[in-house]
Amino acid sequence: MGDSKGVLSIVGIGPGSAPHTSPAALEAITSSDVVVGYITYVKLVRHLTEGKEIIRTGMTEEIGRARAAVERARDGAKVAIISSGDAGVYGMAGLVFQVLKDMGWKRGESPELRIIPGMTALNSCGSLVGAPLGHDFCAISLSDLLTPWPVIARRIEAAASADFVIGLYNPASGRRTRQIVEAHDIIARHRAGTTPVALVKSAYRKLEQKIMTDLDHFLEYEIGMLTTVLVGSSHTFVFEGYMVTPRGYTNKYTWDGNAIPGQTPGRSLVLDADADAEGE
Ligand code: SAH
Repeated sequence: MGDSKGVLSIVGIGPGSAPHTSPAALEAITSSDVVVGYITYVKLVRHLTEGKEIIRTGMTEEIGRARAAVERARDGAKVAIISSGDAGVYGMAGLVFQVLKDMGWKRGESPELRIIPGMTALNSCGSLVGAPLGHDFCAISLSDLLTPWPVIARRIEAAASADFVIGLYNPASGRRTRQIVEAHDIIARHRAGTTPVALVKSAYRKLEQKIMTDLDHFLEYEIGMLTTVLVGSSHTFVFEGYMVTPRGYTNKYTWDGNAIPGQTPGRSLVLDADADAEGE
């Protein structure tokens, strides 16, 4: 073990374009000696990594990559481990903590940890299609490489029945094509076929693509590893090509800004017998 305390920065770089990477993330990368990450993400920040040691590995070598990053930092190096979006959202952060736990690391010991938040795919993809996340939403990853499918299916069922807007991460890959079809079938048992669905691929990257469709038709389009699928709630609507989930202001106010008779600003919404409790 080295004498000086190392630093391990766990960095979310955002969707993949420079203006959408935070200054804090940039600083964490440029001040590190070693940058660790999946090849695609390391390429996205290659303008920042000149002269640095790079540990690039493929998709299935995450444990080795996390261990290498932690060990180098423990021994005194300044290491940045990078994920796209936010490192804590289906990224490397959790795994880094598991490695630290496994090696018996304690707060105050080397390495010092710095966790830098990034704009997750739900934020970047949402911004490209309007305001789809304006009311309660959830994220579900359809990858069953590390999670049993019945667990995922149960979560889709719960989210669909509770009328959440649903962001589907990892919807499909070359080999994994069945899950998105099953997800569709589960959601369609709870929502109208006209429910807005947006497919956003490679948000804020060169090959960015967005498609506005609906629950009945979205499976007709190409969906892959770089796609996030946004499924609206029963209140989500499309307006001028934008996908919008309203927050329910019109339950309480008229468009001139006054409270509807019987409602009080700052107080819980008063329901009448046939009011719909959410959205419009
Ligand atoms: N840590 C990342 C998520 C990694 S999981 C984050 O916070 O965004 C990988 C999945 O994220 C992909 O399968 C895709 O569903 C989504 N994703 C990541 N970057 C994306 C982008 N630029 N455009 C669209 N979807 C993206």
